[in-house]
Amino acid sequence: MRKTISVITAFFAASAFAAGTYPSEEIVSYSPSVSFILHEDESPVEDSDSNAFAPFLPGFNAGPEGSEPDEFLDEASAIDNMIDSIAEATQIDTVEIDMTQAALPLESTRITSPFGFRHYRIHKGIDIGLRRGDTIRASFPGRVARVRYERRGYGRYIVLDHTGCGVTRTVYAHLSKQYVKVGQIVKAGEVIGLGGSTGRSTGPHLHFEMRVGDTPLNPNDYFDFANHTFVQEKIKLPSVVFEGEYAALQKEASKHRYHKVRRGDTLGKIARKYHTTVSRLRKLNGLGKKSILRIGRIIRCS
Ligand SMILES: [Zn+2]
Repeated sequence: MRKTISVITAFFAASAFAAGTYPSEEIVSYSPSVSFILHEDESPVEDSDSNAFAPFLPGFNAGPEGSEPDEFLDEASAIDNMIDSIAEATQIDTVEIDMTQAALPLESTRITSPFGFRHYRIHKGIDIGLRRGDTIRASFPGRVARVRYERRGYGRYIVLDHTGCGVTRTVYAHLSKQYVKVGQIVKAGEVIGLGGSTGRSTGPHLHFEMRVGDTPLNPNDYFDFANHTFVQEKIKLPSVVFEGEYAALQKEASKHRYHKVRRGDTLGKIARKYHTTVSRLRKLNGLGKKSILRIGRIIRCS
């Protein structure tokens, strides 16, 4: 049962102009006939932190362009923990995700990095490539929980809390502009910021997360980004299913252990630390006898 999401433009038109919170040059022209997205103009958005961390430490896979570098997922765990810590303890048996209340967070449909296990961490959201300055919208009605800047992580990001639509939290990261304040009530489809490449990012993209309590969901299971619609109007999810799926993902991730090479490290030292052998480390990481162990490189240890 597919249905185009077009509910949001009216909300936006009303709220954005009534609130009067946008700098004049960022007010976008609005046409009721446009079913979804209002394009920002192409003028460059000032974004001094863009790609501040590129190039990354030697030895890293850069990750797909318009994504986070692989290393980011390591660094981001602290931020994840912080976001996790503001999740209220919830006892949920079954949750119903109500997509009739939802709006796509952006127009672009170019997914640059999927949800799930990636190299050595779980990617708790999806990355969608965008043009710097593209409009970013609240994907469900809710309240602004965080508006922050994390230079080494999500860059400029916004966390929204939701009630009544199944999803309890969404995260929008690497923004160039944040237009909302903590405590503000937002409607689905309301503009909350502009896309960018702040924080650890290899190019302009939105890192988008959907969570129920502490458990991240794969946004692709709910939004049909390619067709600007949603997968199903309402999706009933027993908690054992979505929590079980995530637990399986964590179990998979925990099978692999990684080590970030520090000054003074040798393969022998690392092997002892991880209760393995030098030859096993060489094999896991494709290291030859003459390979140099660069500081900052992440090597797989199990
Ligand atoms: Zn991401």
